[in-house]
Amino acid sequence: MSRPADTPIDAATEAERLLRICAACMYCDGYCAVFPAIAGKHGFPLAEIDHLAHLCHNCRGCWYACQYAPPHPFAVNLPRTLAAVRQESFARHVRPRWLAGAFARTGWIVAVVVGAVTLAALALVLIAVPPEILLGVHTSGGAFYRVVPWGIMTAAAGLSFAWAVVAVAAATVAFWRTIGPRAPLRIVLRALPAALADVVTLRNLGGGGHGCNDTGEKLSGERRASHHVLVAGFALTILSTVSAALLHHVTGAPAPYPVVSLPVLAGTLGGVLMLAGVAGLAAVETRADREPAAPAETRMNIGLLALLAATAASGLAVLGLRATAAMGLALTLHLGVVVGTFLVLPATKMLHAPFRAAALLRAAIDRLIAPPRRSGGE
Ligand code: SF4
Ligand code: SF4
Repeated sequence: MSRPADTPIDAATEAERLLRICAACMYCDGYCAVFPAIAGKHGFPLAEIDHLAHLCHNCRGCWYACQYAPPHPFAVNLPRTLAAVRQESFARHVRPRWLAGAFARTGWIVAVVVGAVTLAALALVLIAVPPEILLGVHTSGGAFYRVVPWGIMTAAAGLSFAWAVVAVAAATVAFWRTIGPRAPLRIVLRALPAALADVVTLRNLGGGGHGCNDTGEKLSGERRASHHVLVAGFALTILSTVSAALLHHVTGAPAPYPVVSLPVLAGTLGGVLMLAGVAGLAAVETRADREPAAPAETRMNIGLLALLAATAASGLAVLGLRATAAMGLALTLHLGVVVGTFLVLPATKMLHAPFRAAALLRAAIDRLIAPPRRSGGE
């Protein structure tokens, strides 16, 4: 099962070779959900490899434990190979299909699209809004809409958001068609709570309580903690947006809202937590051992973190500058970043969230249909 070192090979073919070695070895049984899922299997079709790649939560434990890692002729590097499969899998399932090429150039695409949309928004505002309005101090209700009219703001944000939701949902459906088991609906419904619990708690990133090899041989819980902080911040910004929309439409009170109000408090705390989570994940990414990492996945991680940081920082700038003459430009910048982010989102690592949830649901279904087989001793 060894491979000549200079043979060019695609990630799925390499994953098939490694998974067959692992299924025979099973030393890492108990490290994660991948190993129970491959126990007793001798062949791995592409759909199975897709599922296993997203079931791997990249803890890298099997890399540091593996007696067949390089320089052994088997050259087993399961984390790097499954990370590379994940990138191929995103490109195979992305919708619309013409976005597939974007994954190879995710850094450029993110920078060019978000930069172009933001510059276009700034140019439009500079052309269309009189300087005394754009650079004026507006503090009364509806102040934001004096710079960017409400209809234009909601149409730009709403349409780009709808595009992102539809494209990500279509990619997720395509992925589920690939990995979904033939199970009755009642089994799927029974599996849902366990899968949801895995998603919400990020249980796997805890490495069974000991942490993961986030940056090297030393175990840590950094990635899990930063992930939680980022998701909590993101959820608070959603709460801020929804509560502001409700206040606008139900009570008829347009933004900006007082400092002590749900939209402002949730938005501020959410933005700060998002930046803290991004900083934590970026620190892990920067210090991480490169050997078990796939360069394409690292680029996608950094691209998504940069997007989230730009969105959170520009949102906080609007909150901080809303009673000053800089509000108009800060608002335009934020709107451009948000719309650009929604436009590129379906071609970013954001797909990881629903794909990982789908893989965890499939694993929960498998546990109900056929409880995992363990190698001897457990
Ligand atoms: S990663 Fe290495 S040690 Fe672990 S199961 Fe696979 S071959 Fe065995
Ligand atoms: S990197 Fe971690 S999650 Fe992925 S296969 Fe290895 S032990 Fe499992």
